[in-house]
Amino acid sequence: IERTFSILKPDATRRNLTGAVNALIEKAGLRIVAQKRIRLSREQAETFYGVHKERPFFGELVEQMTAAPVVVQVLEGENAIAHYREVMGATNPANAAPGTIRKEFALNVGENTVHGSDAPETAVVEIAQFFSGNEIV
Ligand code: ATP
Ligand code: MG
Repeated sequence: IERTFSILKPDATRRNLTGAVNALIEKAGLRIVAQKRIRLSREQAETFYGVHKERPFFGELVEQMTAAPVVVQVLEGENAIAHYREVMGATNPANAAPGTIRKEFALNVGENTVHGSDAPETAVVEIAQFFSGNEIV
């Protein structure tokens, strides 16, 4: 059993898609073991996406991630990290497979509805940025 970190991004909360996205997550067999709705500070967003600091879209990414509330989550399941990335679909919704969250809901490559950790090491760090152990049940 594995845990991954998920964010329902501002484009999701703005369009009232929290429940619809969570339905796809739960239908896929992933369990939501922690969840809260927060507004990211600029500093939190810059830290979270620090690996992309030098990319041309970094400024826009931070703007988008702080423009409205997000829902941060911990998901649990067999191979949760890889499984959730399948459920999310490709980063660019134009390339996302049918039935994936991004194919169903994403607006464009920036406003792509969800984030999911990409490796066990990043999952641990990302979960710890937003949740303490006793909040994950
Ligand atoms: P995430 O990390 O959000 O789960 P990902 O792992 O599929 O997405 P990354 O390459 O880590 O994709 O990019 C992080 C985020 O940066 C993307 O989800 C997207 O919002 C944004 N992004 C990535 N590439 C571009 C781009 N070419 N133009 C604009 N935004 C981009
Ligand atoms: Mg990523």
